Amino acid sequence: MSPIKVTFLGTGTSQGIPMIACSCEVCQSNDTRDKRLRVSLHLEVNGNSFVIDTGPDFRQQMLRESITHLDAVLYTHEHKDHTAGLDDIRGFNYFQKTAIPLYAQSRVIDQLKREFAYAFDENKYPGVPDIQVHEIDEKPFEVKDILITPIQVKHFLLDIFGYRIGDFTYITDANFIAEDEIEKIKGSKVLVINALRKAKHVSHFTLEEALDLVQKVNPERAYLTHISHQLGKHEEVQQELPNNVFLAYDGLKITI
Ligand SMILES: [Zn+2]
Ligand SMILES: [Zn+2]
Ligand SMILES: [Zn+2]
Repeated sequence: MSPIKVTFLGTGTSQGIPMIACSCEVCQSNDTRDKRLRVSLHLEVNGNSFVIDTGPDFRQQMLRESITHLDAVLYTHEHKDHTAGLDDIRGFNYFQKTAIPLYAQSRVIDQLKREFAYAFDENKYPGVPDIQVHEIDEKPFEVKDILITPIQVKHFLLDIFGYRIGDFTYITDANFIAEDEIEKIKGSKVLVINALRKAKHVSHFTLEEALDLVQKVNPERAYLTHISHQLGKHEEVQQELPNNVFLAYDGLKITI
């Protein structure tokens, strides 16, 4: 497998930063690293172009990063901040003249069918998104000969997926990970994990909980994502972190 090129398309929680109508110091910050679109990731591996989730900022993220080809979408779960941009894959349909494969577990597919019913119609209106749905479960699967291992994590009541590809693991929206799933992450050189804020939250890891997981998995480097304005300013929070842990920011690129 070639090195994996990762681009953080968005690193913010569901509201994004700045949050509408908020006058806090993070939302008012001039630091570009404090501007966070809704969470999503782009992966380039063996010449293939994958995204994990298509949130409400998908169109803007594809344009900003000049992504001109898409081979597949992997979904973590069905929440709107991870799915709302699906309609905008039409540009890729138009130029690639093919359906875009989506990979998700059955509950997520059911929700996509409700929210984007027109894309699943028997007699489709011309120009609707052209998608090809692949149902996955917790077993590893291949996309374009690349092995992808789902990591099942708890997001309050939901079982949702993170993904491991080679030495890279991406997990968002977790608030608990069982020991046997942590075993699947171990050995990753790079771990991306969600860290919402410092105060306890029902469905997301806090900064402290995310750092605990990093310690358990012990990757070379870890990046924190799905960040709320309540976490604090990028520059100040980064200074509190261990040497091998970084706050991700929109547009950050890393190679594994
Ligand atoms: Zn989310
Ligand atoms: Zn704010
Ligand atoms: Zn969620």
